[in-house]
Amino acid sequence: MSIALLPSHLVNQIAAGEVVERPASVLKELMENALDAGATQIRIAAQAGGIDALQITDNGTGIARDELALALTRHATSKIRSLEDLEAVASLGFRGEALPSIAAVADLRLDSRTAADEHGWSIQLRPGDPLPSPRPQPMAPGTHIRVERLFHSVPARKRFLRTARTEFSHLDTVARRLALGAPSLAVSLDHNDKRLWQVESGLDAASAERRVAALLGDEFMAQALVIEHAGQGVEMSGWIAKPAFSRSQADVQHVFINGRYVRDRLLVAALKAAYADVLHYSRQPAYLLYLRLDPREVDVNVHPTKQEVRFRDSRRIFDHLRRTVQQVIAAPLSVAQLVTAPAPGGGAAPRVAEASSPAYHRDGQPLPAPFARSLYGTADAARPAAQQAIEAAPPLGFALAQIHGVFILSQTDDGIILVDMHAAHERIVLETLKARIGSAMATAQPLLLPIDLTVSESLAELAEAAIPWLQPLGLELRRSGAQQLLITAVPALLADYDHAQLVRDLLADLSASDELDAQRLATAIDSVLGNTACRSGSIKAGRRLSLPEMNALLRQIESTPRSGQCNHGRPTWVALDMAALNRLFIRGR
Ligand code: ADP
Ligand code: MG
Repeated sequence: MSIALLPSHLVNQIAAGEVVERPASVLKELMENALDAGATQIRIAAQAGGIDALQITDNGTGIARDELALALTRHATSKIRSLEDLEAVASLGFRGEALPSIAAVADLRLDSRTAADEHGWSIQLRPGDPLPSPRPQPMAPGTHIRVERLFHSVPARKRFLRTARTEFSHLDTVARRLALGAPSLAVSLDHNDKRLWQVESGLDAASAERRVAALLGDEFMAQALVIEHAGQGVEMSGWIAKPAFSRSQADVQHVFINGRYVRDRLLVAALKAAYADVLHYSRQPAYLLYLRLDPREVDVNVHPTKQEVRFRDSRRIFDHLRRTVQQVIAAPLSVAQLVTAPAPGGGAAPRVAEASSPAYHRDGQPLPAPFARSLYGTADAARPAAQQAIEAAPPLGFALAQIHGVFILSQTDDGIILVDMHAAHERIVLETLKARIGSAMATAQPLLLPIDLTVSESLAELAEAAIPWLQPLGLELRRSGAQQLLITAVPALLADYDHAQLVRDLLADLSASDELDAQRLATAIDSVLGNTACRSGSIKAGRRLSLPEMNALLRQIESTPRSGQCNHGRPTWVALDMAALNRLFIRGR
């Protein structure tokens, strides 16, 4: 065959292969266009999972009559003009491909009206049709797009579509996701002429939370901690779920960068690492995070659907993200410490608050000092924070009794608290062990009688590779055969433990990941220490404690990082405030 230019219809069909995979990808492109056009309201209606018909109505700027044909032409866009624009692109679209791609594989009707026009204009076309001239169309300002019979003209692609039900569930996911990404947007979704859900704009704290609860579920909101932090050139806000809301699937992990939903392996890994201390590695954390940074720091032009991005300085952003989230999860009960202590790297300390608490701020300003008090009720802004801290009753209150040898009952300023003694103590032991890693653990204690250990060949290889990582921690071993290891020295801190078991646990944990790095090793050591803490030092259920012993434990929990969860991510204590108690007894109704 000789070389020839492809006809434009075929070029559009090829482009559609990248951009339009299913009704949900059409919805994504059209919702993004509406958002780029400044819409504050988007109505979505689908028939048969969007395969038969999908229509989107917005109240954005609209498209002028003379530009309607251009909007349907490939590589025509109103969003960028130059390479400089592309490098700093703030709009969701910029490639000028979506509308022509959709029109290449489905029947399309595009109605649009700008505020300056008295009525709108409409274009209707089928795949392969030449562009017709617009016809007048009465309508409110904004844009209305109807896409029918997707892939009708491309049977090979139509075969890849699933049942209407499955396609609808993808539509639903995309609609919720875009709604999450645009907090000021009102969205509704209809399927087969039935309204399935709608959300209003959520600009103040309370309505924002209602909105997220509607989109992600009440339970997520009930378990969410507010995160709000600025530093290192990154503004971070959103909600992260307490470890107790962990999931078996990574289905509630939403990260938006400058308003764009991004699914990035390294971001996911950074967040997983942030939870590593409080979550079993088979469980998935849940979060909804908004990051704002200079658009020049991210390259969004990596993939046609733009769900992958590249960071100019990924290490810095990931470390920052991991540390900040880690701090919020780890926040001990005395929140005041977190608020006044400078965060690593110089930024303001992350703000921690239960969802719905008065500490919610959106303005990016440092929180006032009495923030901690406001979390527990009686804030008094006039007095200095230090004085308040002295007068404040301890957050976990004072112990009243031990119940069934398992729980401590404690009275607080505004209710009661039940503490799982064993779980809480386990966490305290673990954190103490970890705090000592840097010093005592690093001291190696040579073994008089080296320990011989038989493991699988692959574990022996792993151990050999890990030798240079383990040595600085005081753990020295060498490979003495295909399946033989010889432990010659152990960390002084762990001298009393079962060394063979320690090494086995460590190797098992390391072998679960395909890469060996400092982060992974730290995680493995944490988990081995966690088991050690669980097996040894912890208070066993059933032991009698005196009131002073109980109060000492409560004070220890208050000052221990991550003490809200045990090493396995279960809560270590629960609170019932007076309102909850009154509800239990149906008082005040
Ligand atoms: P891109 O979004 O990459 O620019 P599209 O093919 O998605 O490319 O859209 C082409 C152009 O049509 C956009 O640049 C925009 O000017 C216009 N447009 C598309 N949808 C809308 C809409 N809902 N409201 C206003 N203008 C729109
Ligand atoms: Mg677009």
